[in-house]
Order: sequence, then C-alpha cells, then structure tokens
Amino acid sequence: MAGKTTGGGRDNSSRTLRCSFCNRSENEVNFLIPSPTGVTICDSCIDICNQIIEEHYEDTPTVKEGDFTLDTLPKPDEIKKELDTYVIGQDGAKKALAVAVYNHYKRILSRKKGKKAEEENDVEIQKSNVLLIGPTGVGKTYLAQNLARALKVPFAIADATTLTEAGYVGEDVENILLKLIQAADFDVSLAEKGIIYIDEIDKISRRSENRSITRDVSGEGVQQALLKILEGTVANVPPQGGRKHPGQDFIQINTKDILFICGGAFDGISKLIEQRQGNKVIGYNNNRVSQSNLTEVNALIADVTPHDIVKYGLIPELVGRLPVIVSLENLTVDMLKEILTKPRNALTKQYIALLQMDGVELDFEEEAVSAIASLAIERHTGARGLRAILEDIMLDIMYEIPSRNDIAKVTITKDTVLKKGKPVLTLK
Ligand code: ADP
Repeated sequence: MAGKTTGGGRDNSSRTLRCSFCNRSENEVNFLIPSPTGVTICDSCIDICNQIIEEHYEDTPTVKEGDFTLDTLPKPDEIKKELDTYVIGQDGAKKALAVAVYNHYKRILSRKKGKKAEEENDVEIQKSNVLLIGPTGVGKTYLAQNLARALKVPFAIADATTLTEAGYVGEDVENILLKLIQAADFDVSLAEKGIIYIDEIDKISRRSENRSITRDVSGEGVQQALLKILEGTVANVPPQGGRKHPGQDFIQINTKDILFICGGAFDGISKLIEQRQGNKVIGYNNNRVSQSNLTEVNALIADVTPHDIVKYGLIPELVGRLPVIVSLENLTVDMLKEILTKPRNALTKQYIALLQMDGVELDFEEEAVSAIASLAIERHTGARGLRAILEDIMLDIMYEIPSRNDIAKVTITKDTVLKKGKPVLTLK
C-alpha cells in the first residue's frame, strides 16, 4: 500500500506514528495520512468516516425535482425573496404570484394527503391560473420562469399566436403540453406539476384588428381549445409534436394540476379601464412617454377587472379560468438602472466579467447607465431592449480589446452611449 508516512501524530516516547482517532500505530494499519496541523488518520478510520457520511445522507431526505411536501413547500415570503434576487420592481406582482403559486401547490399537496382537508371542510379549492398584464419587456416571462426555478418544477413557454384551431396552419394546443413534458425529461407525473407560461394571450382576442388569414377568423377557436387544458383535462399529446393523426401513439397527460400563467400586453386596455371609470382618456400613446404618464397608466392597469379583459376580447369562460389577475408596472429609469447593475446576472456585470477575462477593467459611469435606461424607455422595449443597446455600445470595444495588450481600463461614459464620443481608454 501507499508508503507509511513519517511526521504528524508521532508518539514521543516510541517515536512511532499513530492514528489520532484510534491510536493504532503505523505498524498496525495499512497507511496513515498526516495533516499539516499534526493530526493523523489511518485507512480504517477513513472507512468508518465514509460510512458515517453515507448514513447521514441516507437519513437526510433528498428533495427530488417537484417533490415537495407541505413542510418543504416554500412559503410565499420565501418565494418572493427568491424572485427578488432576479426580478427588479414589480413588488405587487411578485407578492400576488407568490401567494397564488403557494396556494396552487398547497391545494395539490392537501389533496394528496388523502383528500382530508377538502373532505373535512367540504371545500374544494379551485385551481388558480394566473393572468399577467403589462407592457413588453417588464418581466412577465421572466417572473414565470423564476417562479418555476424557485419551486424547482418543470417550466415551458408557449406563444399563443402560433396556436391554431385544428384544421388550420399552425400548432395544436397540445404541443404546449409536449414542451412541458420535454422540460420534465418525459417524466409525465413531474410534468403534471409543472408551470406553463403562455405569452401573447391578448393576440388571440376576438377583436377584429387581431384577425389573421392563417388563423381562424376570431381567435375564439384557439381560446376554446386553451380553455380545455386550462380547466383540467386528460390530453393526448403526440410525442413528436406537429399535428395529430389517427393511428399515432400518444402521451396522456392530466392538466388539472399544471399551473398556467398567461401573459399579454393588452395594448390599449387602459383606455377601456378609463372609460369604465368614466375619466377622460390620457395621451399615453404619444411617442414621448413622460414619467407622470407612466405612473398614471400603471395606476389604471392596476385597476383592471375580469370585465375589462372580456371587453378586450377574451371569452368569459377563459377569463373565468384565470382568476388571479396581476398587473405589472412600466419600468422607470431607476428600475432599468437597477436591472442593468444589481441582479446576480445583471447585464453590465456580464460585460465586466467578459473583459476581465482579457485582463481589462470595465467601468460604466452612472450617467452612462442612466442614458442606457432612458434609451430603452424611448424605444418602448422595457428591459428587453437593454441587451441590444449594450451590444451596440460594446461591439467596437469587444472587437478591439482581445488583440491589444496595452489597455488597463475601459470607461463607458454618457457620450459613448449617445454616440457623441468613444469609450475612454486607460493605458497600462
Ligand atoms: P415580457 O414582459 O415581455 O415577458 P420578459 O420577461 O421576457 O418581458 O423580459 C425580457 C428580459 O428583460 C428578461 O429576460 C430579463 O432579462 C429582463 N427583465 C425584464 N423585466 C425585468 C425585471 N423586472 N427585473 C429584471 N430583469 C427584467
């Protein structure tokens, strides 16, 4: 075996090395491993330690994906905290979502406990799918994605505009479910506890301006198809995707415990809300969006009711299956600045890390960050446009840096962002 060692737990009287744990001498064991601090351990004590570690892990319940119990289910404030590390602002939405999602899984778990809660109280807790309303790029998809991450359940994103009624060009509604099954690695029972985000739900409303030649004229057929899977059904999903055809094998999945989060910008809904409230219409469609306008629109949208959504063009049955309506606010300059700099994976941090790999420090002046945020507001792209703006600013620098070894630091100034000047280079 590995050579007997000297040093470590040496016995002063006999000058023999001994195991600090069992006190056996180097002649009684296969080998001894000394530590720099003078402690020595023998091979059989290492074996015993390994056994103790293994037993410890056997006793510790390992949580499989989506395999939580009522005790391990994260509480609403824990879910919100987790969302806070990634999603800036949207406090009201985070809170409402955390509660909705917590209740959703509590409902599933209490039923699993032998239907006790429901039978005793004779109360059937209904599924609470969620409708997120807010402009582009304010974090609707991102929130749903991070919720799934916080709960460690499979997650899939679908786009309502690609869905069609059977018989038209496009995707069957069941393909949404296939995406979730794929996200769960074809573990159907895990997929049955997953979360699906359906984007652009407002684009299948039955208002005439949303008509499409490739889709059924009203969008109502798609809404009906969605309604079925939202309320809970056993769906047959073609494993290869695409259109269903006779004689095909299907994966059966029950959608009753899948949480559906639908999202849409619902452009112009604030007009409907305002009309209902009986106020005069504010000019939020102007190209110049002022801060006070944003605040007004935020306040209006926060007041949205199911009635407004039906008026907008979703069928009442579908709205009835989306009992939790959450509005997201327009992002302000300050929020966008925070998004650029604060989260763990913030965009500026990503560029700083990229340049660090070339041994170059990158600094964004505060005024530069404000200018980037203002550009995103002007473009009405929310946080979604930030990456494109940054890519544009950083392109020349990222082209140049790798082949130069005289640069110590690059500073992005307001002028760099406004294309009035180049980034400031500090040479080594
Ligand atoms: P939408 O509301 O259109 O669904 P997304 O959630 O897709 O917008 O946002 C696009 C991207 O912008 C996200 O991937 C995320 O990086 C960023 N983002 C949007 N809103 C936020 C926010 N509130 N906090 C942090 N990042 C955000």
